Order: sequence, then structure tokens, then C-alpha cells
Amino acid sequence: MAQDPVAQDPLGTHPRLLAVLGYPIAHSLSPAMHQPALAAAGLNVRYVALAVAPDQVGAAVAGLRALGFLGANVTIPHKEAVLAYLDEVTEDARLIGAVNTIAVRDGRLCGSNTDGPGFLAHLQAEGVDPAGRPAAILGAGGAARAVAVALARAGASRLRVLNRTPARAEEVAAVARAAGCPDALAAPLAAEALAGAALVVNCTPVGMHPHLDATPVPAEWLPAGAAVYDTVYRPAETRLLREAAARGLRAIGGLGMLVYQGALAWEAWFGRRGPVEQMFAAAARALA
Ligand code: NAP
Repeated sequence: MAQDPVAQDPLGTHPRLLAVLGYPIAHSLSPAMHQPALAAAGLNVRYVALAVAPDQVGAAVAGLRALGFLGANVTIPHKEAVLAYLDEVTEDARLIGAVNTIAVRDGRLCGSNTDGPGFLAHLQAEGVDPAGRPAAILGAGGAARAVAVALARAGASRLRVLNRTPARAEEVAAVARAAGCPDALAAPLAAEALAGAALVVNCTPVGMHPHLDATPVPAEWLPAGAAVYDTVYRPAETRLLREAAARGLRAIGGLGMLVYQGALAWEAWFGRRGPVEQMFAAAARALA
């Protein structure tokens, strides 16, 4: 029979540990999002934010095993660097080239990436299904790679990747083709590249606090009938989303991507999804 961890440790002085590793880390919403959910689930687990300097990534990841951590999340700027220090990495995390979740299983450090699945789960929860539909991605960094793989896996019929540095867009398109979308191409940063897209996803930081007046593409470029998703979540409503909504388009902000990537990380640590609604409320409170 499963033993109650709280009853075993009534003072809570011997919790299991989770962390988010980043640098800097002070602004991470993850502890505020996870900790109340862990407590409400009756799990005697502490989730802490750890600032890890770039030259300490290997030591920090080895430390997760040495200190008996259940696992960790990984955030900017370490998502790529941690791969070198893990025992196992999922196929999609390897394709994306980035890990945001580590689980320590039987002493083995297992890496995965829940950013893409988190984006997709939120998108679908909002009633938008990319299967069989054309999509466009703005940007070609880590978020774009995760989103591209998620859209390819979900069966998007066509993907266009627009980026100010075209060579990087081509790399993301190649990743999407490898993930199962044959019609994935880099496209010029122009209105024609968005024409016909049923979904436009901003994966650049353009529009993020404090640059509230910035937007990644002119509103006139947004195709009629498209859903517009902004992975930026500070502020909750970016200029891109405001302008999309003003044109009668579906406009969805990226806080849900953060929440779902966190809820899906629970699957790696506990074998079940975290409580999405509770985590959403906690993240929104922390953001406010
Ligand atoms: P990244 O690896 O640094 O990539 C940023 C991309 O945006 C690059 O392609 C870059 O173009 C482009 N870019 C940056 N500044 C630009 C500008 N002023 N004008 C035009 N393009 C610009 O960053 P990332 O990790 O992919 O993250 C990007 C954003 O995604 C973050 O800022 C965050 O808001 C969001 N994000 C959200 C979540 C979530 O859970 N909601 C998760 C991850 C990321 P070049 O290639 O030309 O440099």
C-alpha cells in the first residue's frame, strides 16, 4: 500500500526536492505555480529556484542525482547545454535540441521537452486543432523549434517559418520536416508568407515587457480567419494579440503554454499530469 509522505514527515523537514535551473532565475513563475499544487496534492515536495551560472551546468545536473532530487525544470539559458550531461533524452527533445524537464529515475538523469506538448495542449484546450491545417511560425529560436515539432507531430499540413535571420528559419523548417511535416519551409518575412495560414504563432520575444509597443508583424499581414497565438505571456495581452482581436481573429496568450508545460512535467516526475486549473490560477496570481 502507498504510504502517505506527509504522515511520514509531519514537520515537513524531509521533503523530496524539485528545482528550476536557470540564470538569472529570480523572475521564474515556476515555484509559485508548482508549490501550491504539490501541497494540495499531498506531496511532501519542495520546488525551489536555483541560479546556476553557465560554467556550473554540468555540476548542477550531477548534483540533482547526488542530492536525491526527483528532477528539475530547466530554463533560459541552460535548455540546450544540459543535454550533454543527461543519461537519456527523448527523441523530440533531441530533435528540438533542448530539454526543459529532467526526471531522476533509478539514478539516471532523463531529459524531455514539454514546451511543445504544452503549447499544443493549451492550443487544443482553447479549441484550436492544427491537424490538417496550414500554420506559420514567427521566430527561429528554442521556442520556435519546440512549437514546430509540436505542430508537425500534430499533423499541420503546411508550415512556414519567418525569421529576421533566414538561415535559422531554414534550420527550424528542417526540424519540422524531420518531425513529420513534409511541407515545412523557411519563408521571407513578408505578408505573402502568412497568406492562407489558419494559425500564426509568435515565437519571438517581440512585444514582451517592457517593449509593449512592439509587434512582430504588421496587423495587416494577419490572414483573415486565422488563430493568433503569442508565446509571450508578459503582458498577458500583447500588441499582436490586441490587434488580432481587433481584426476579429482568435487571439491566445502564452501563459497557458507555461502552465501546460509545467503540468506535463509532472508526468515525468509523478506519472500523472499536474492540476492545470490550479496551476493556471497560481501562475496568473504570480504574474500579477
Ligand atoms: P531565442 O532562442 O533567443 O530566439 C528568439 C527568436 O526571436 C530568434 O529567432 C530571434 O531572431 C527572434 N528575435 C529576437 N528579437 C527579435 C527582434 N527584435 N525582431 C525580430 N526577431 C527577433 O528565444 P526563445 O527561447 O525561442 O524564446 C522566445 C520567446 O518565446 C521568449 O521571449 C518567450 O516570450 C517565449 N517563450 C514562451 C514560453 C511559454 O511557456 N509561454 C516558453 C518558451 C519561450 P534571430 O534568429 O534573427 O536572432
